[in-house]
Amino acid sequence: MKKHNFSAGPCILPQEVLLKASEAVLDFNESGLSLIEISHRSKPFVDVMENARSLALELLGLEGKGYKALFLQGGASTQFLMVALNMLEKRAGYLNTGTWSAKAIKEAKIYDDIYEVASSESANYNYIPKGYDIPTDYDYFHCTSNNTIFGTQIKKFPECPIPMVCDMSSDIFSRELDFTKFDIIYAGAQKNMGPAGTTLVVVKEDVLGKVSRKIPSMMDYKVHISKSSMFNTPPVFAVYTSMLTLEWLKNLGGIPAISEINDKKARIMYSEIDINPLFKGFAVKEDRSQMNATFNLVNGDLKDTFDTMLKEAGIEGINGHRSVGGYRASMYNALPLDSVKVLVEVMSELETKA
Ligand SMILES: *Cc1c(COP(=O)(O)O)cnc(C)c1O
Repeated sequence: MKKHNFSAGPCILPQEVLLKASEAVLDFNESGLSLIEISHRSKPFVDVMENARSLALELLGLEGKGYKALFLQGGASTQFLMVALNMLEKRAGYLNTGTWSAKAIKEAKIYDDIYEVASSESANYNYIPKGYDIPTDYDYFHCTSNNTIFGTQIKKFPECPIPMVCDMSSDIFSRELDFTKFDIIYAGAQKNMGPAGTTLVVVKEDVLGKVSRKIPSMMDYKVHISKSSMFNTPPVFAVYTSMLTLEWLKNLGGIPAISEINDKKARIMYSEIDINPLFKGFAVKEDRSQMNATFNLVNGDLKDTFDTMLKEAGIEGINGHRSVGGYRASMYNALPLDSVKVLVEVMSELETKA
């Protein structure tokens, strides 16, 4: 039976991407060799890396604007400290909007002083703080565009007088933004791009080289840029599969096209949450994430019935994170509109039963 995969990450990828990726594991470009058993310095793989890097910049509208794209390892979690190592000299400002922001703050604090410009922690992160000031003399400002666990998303980014760094792990390539507003963007692949194992980092080159500390080579963006993202053996399978997803997205019409589909999915999902008296959304309405819809049953006694109905409909991966509870429907780029329709049908069926 076909499953409807609402997993928060690792998560659904386009079927055609999975098919092509699995073919390449057996026979890459009809070479008689597997993608994962050839040299990463061979021309076919160097072409993959270059294609993936340029597709990322092209889709974000950042080509020819002084940015470089890197495919690194260590997950978004390694970027929490890498950003600080490369950018933090005196002080940085962080917006605390959830578990991942808090982890980014914790790592940066190892290196220097961090100022929380605002936080929604006391409300269990159910909203995005607004109207805060960003000091002009700090090294950079860091924010998390989409809070995967709590289901909130920054809709309007602040005017930022200093370099802006953004963790876009769970909504990169999902909506139209002016990406030139950001100086460093990073995103673990496993939410909207590919398998776990690589992290896309997009860096505006002119913000680098301003800290006085010595940076270990593997942690140094400049080293990775100078080696065209091949300083050491890259995660070839994860990079190749990410490239396939970026090609899929480009063929679909890029971010404008997927953004329209994502709008539609989110509208259907949230209107059911709002109209159905059995459910209550977790995040405040104006900050709701288009990628992760978090909601609870008003009457917990219905949980077993609802869970059974979800299972029978082939809906998977919809349990909420332990820090929020309830349910979380993750609607990443590759999730078909039909899957959302099936989920919404089950929710309204529960209402007729209850
Ligand atoms: C999942 C996630 C991370 C952690 O990514 P890893 O690749 O597992 O280190 C960081 N930030 C956000 C917003 C996430 O959703």
